Amino acid sequence: MTSASLGPSHTPALGDEGLALELRGISKAFGPVQANKDISIQVRRGTIHGIIGENGAGKSTLMSILYGFYKADAGEIYIGGRRTEIPDSQTAIASGIGMVFQHFKLVPNFTVLENVVLGAEDGAMLRPSLAKARKLLTDLAHEYEMDVDPDAVVEDLSVGLQQRVEILKALYREADILILDEPTGVLTPAEADHLFRILRGLRDQGKTIILITHKLREIMEITDSVSVMRRGEMTATVQTAKTSPEQLAELMVGRKVLLRVDKAPATPGDTVLEVRNLQVVNSQGVEKLRGIDLDLRAGEILGIAGVAGNGQSELLQVLGGYASGTGSIRIKGQEIDLTGTASDARTRRARGIAHVPEDRQREGLIMDFHAWENIAFGYHDDARYGSAFHMDNAAMREDCAGKMERFDVRPPDPSLEAKNFSGGNQQKIVLAREIERDPDLLLIGQPTRGVDIGAIEFIHQQIVALRDRGKAILLVSVELDEIMGLSDRIAVLFDGRIMGERLPSETDQGELGLLMAGMSGEAA
Ligand code: ADP
Ligand code: MG
Repeated sequence: MTSASLGPSHTPALGDEGLALELRGISKAFGPVQANKDISIQVRRGTIHGIIGENGAGKSTLMSILYGFYKADAGEIYIGGRRTEIPDSQTAIASGIGMVFQHFKLVPNFTVLENVVLGAEDGAMLRPSLAKARKLLTDLAHEYEMDVDPDAVVEDLSVGLQQRVEILKALYREADILILDEPTGVLTPAEADHLFRILRGLRDQGKTIILITHKLREIMEITDSVSVMRRGEMTATVQTAKTSPEQLAELMVGRKVLLRVDKAPATPGDTVLEVRNLQVVNSQGVEKLRGIDLDLRAGEILGIAGVAGNGQSELLQVLGGYASGTGSIRIKGQEIDLTGTASDARTRRARGIAHVPEDRQREGLIMDFHAWENIAFGYHDDARYGSAFHMDNAAMREDCAGKMERFDVRPPDPSLEAKNFSGGNQQKIVLAREIERDPDLLLIGQPTRGVDIGAIEFIHQQIVALRDRGKAILLVSVELDEIMGLSDRIAVLFDGRIMGERLPSETDQGELGLLMAGMSGEAA
């Protein structure tokens, strides 16, 4: 990626003024896995450079090499044009690199100030320098509009604020190059917007930002240039203004991907699900649902939007028969029992409710069991699988092989244990099991969490196809793009209440974001 202004005989200059960072031929293997293969990137000073790629593409490995956590097997790092060895993170920090991790590394019961100073000063120096540090921190927070109380205890702060502390900590160490690894995964839309404003501000002050994400929208919204990784390789580096989400997706996956959910308008039929004044109190006595009313008809997808933890999980659990509640739920006009005895999940299945739980590894699969056992899980009383006295294992295996083929599970091997499939393929196993029951109502939580975009396309198509066969679908997702793309109607859940209902065609992410933050319909 040589600058166009350089002459043809000019090799990329090491002292190139414009480059904050250059990686040349970085390779790294973990045993048989080639996590990074001959990766070269140039990042210009004062820009926001995105690194995008699917799960496992090698993004975090590359950044860990840059931050001195891993030693590359081959390759060179240049910082500000100078060849730099980075054997450990102290050297990375001394070279002006700051990193904000996917999982924060703050000390929860320390204050903001203590966390920021920690490690930056020698222990003996800590106390006398605190006053100076406080001033520096306050100045930084002011300069970059990152208000945060230096004396607040970190564990009392929201995730968004904790992330701000991580950024301040890097700036306190005079980072010139700031690396953020999937920073928005834990944020509300409003917090993500705020983060992006902060990052633009930092760039305008001359800092260089490397933003790692698997979200195309974020790349398009905030980066100046972007490098795409696929299976350990760098497939392209492009100017963001000169690319499109479609092109990036193709570079990520290696084939054309349909990004928009392709669906005809819904043609809803009879009411399948009626929820009235549904209340759920969890085992700690906390009210998680505070009187929910919902209607869902056949041939319709109702999306439940909300920041995680606002009652969505409890809604799925009580509907699926895994939690008890009060109020009323009717399926096709018939009341169901909400008292929640152990056999309820099975009763629900018998009533035509299928459930793809949010946490597929804990609730959707038994990880040590084979795929063929998992695909019959919950449905062992199916006549096709033999009788209660004699389970027909061969029939189950054969049934599993068919489902795996139809749902494109890779590898299509019924005798593999669930834990040996990737996240996306585990999800397809659960989907195959639940969708092929041909339920009247499908409850589906976070259908594409941790799933690659190629598989997301497939999963979305299956959900729409089920709708088009006249089934009712209740979709819970924290991904607004997914809610907007799939739903025929959207209800927003906040603090155990429905804040409002919208048609996707008559709302946008901004309005939904406000509802998700608890602003009333009028304010939104
Ligand atoms: P990304 O951040 O793009 O999701 P990673 O860099 O985390 O990808 O992983 C790239 C590949 O390297 C994956 O196949 C992953 O399983 C593997 N990998 C990452 N870290 C390790 C490690 N410490 N030991 C073994 N394999 C690893
Ligand atoms: Mg990663």
